[in-house]
Amino acid sequence: MLVDSYGRTVDYLRVSVTERCNFRCQYCMPEKPFSWVPKENLLNFEELFLFMKVAIDEGIKKIRITGGEPLLRSDLDAFIKMIYDYCPEIDLAMTTNAYLLKGSAQKLKDAGLKRINISVDSLIPDVAEKIAKKDVLKKVLEGLDEALKVGLKVKVNMVPMIGMNENEILDVMKYCKKRDITVRYIEYMENIHAEVDIKGMKSEQLLALIGEKYSYTDEGFDATSPSHYYRCEDGYRFGIIEPYKDDFCAKCNRIRLTAEGNLIPCLYFDEAMSIHDAVKRGDIQEAALVLKEVIRTKPEKNRWSEADGEASTRAFYETGG
Ligand code: SAM
Ligand code: SF4
Repeated sequence: MLVDSYGRTVDYLRVSVTERCNFRCQYCMPEKPFSWVPKENLLNFEELFLFMKVAIDEGIKKIRITGGEPLLRSDLDAFIKMIYDYCPEIDLAMTTNAYLLKGSAQKLKDAGLKRINISVDSLIPDVAEKIAKKDVLKKVLEGLDEALKVGLKVKVNMVPMIGMNENEILDVMKYCKKRDITVRYIEYMENIHAEVDIKGMKSEQLLALIGEKYSYTDEGFDATSPSHYYRCEDGYRFGIIEPYKDDFCAKCNRIRLTAEGNLIPCLYFDEAMSIHDAVKRGDIQEAALVLKEVIRTKPEKNRWSEADGEASTRAFYETGG
């Protein structure tokens, strides 16, 4: 079992398999990213899997594949199958923009993927295009429908922005309600890679807007989830992720691995330790030592609220959000 210095059990690993993306969401990635990590510095799936085995043996019970856009990596289903075959009980999930999902959902499900979070920031083609800098909506929604069809459990993520998609908050909720999917609104996290004039909506603004149409009750947090949940009168449940608060840090159970092999104990801080050389050498013991050191140094809480108004240098497309 992996327990950090504050007594938290860490059993959730988020793995960013690539920083590259086929979208350029205005809140996440500049149109011309500063530089990509050279391909030769990335860990291949065998090397990543070597670390997955170490992490599972040490107590990781949930793995989420993310990116960049994870579906850009070929043979992702084979990687998922390696993890599933090693530990079928593992809670295997993925976060994707769904652009390439229609053709791959069945393969991913067959490989052992259980759950999928899909980013849907708008249901209006022009607005979706403005946000992603590409005509994406039709393919995203087709991908989402396919995921449901093959039996993956789906959640939707939306980043609400003032003057961009704020008037679609209830529409996205309605869309999700109709399909029995949970929507989670993610407060925009300011970062230097995003466009400068974005104004993210805060949870208070979201709740006021939703409250004009529905009455809801506050259900708090589920176990270790960073999402604050609310239930509408008709039983529909939605979530809000509020990174600028640190309420969820006390129960944080996660660490992150980048495609290069940097192991990150907290999304807020730049600190990371590399497992790159250890797995390249096939040195499982060294990889396990690095993992334990990262757990030992996991910070007590984030500092988003202290840095309010200051943009983070964190590239979410590198760490997987
Ligand atoms: N490409 C995939 C996708 O978009 O779902 C996975 C990677 S993306 C970095 C993971 C999540 O981070 C997405 O739900 C995205 O909306 C969110 N995200 C990215 N940048 C963000 C920001 N600045 N503030 C809040 N959420 C952000
Ligand atoms: Fe790509 Fe996801 Fe970032 Fe959008 S949020 S640019 S889809 S990594």
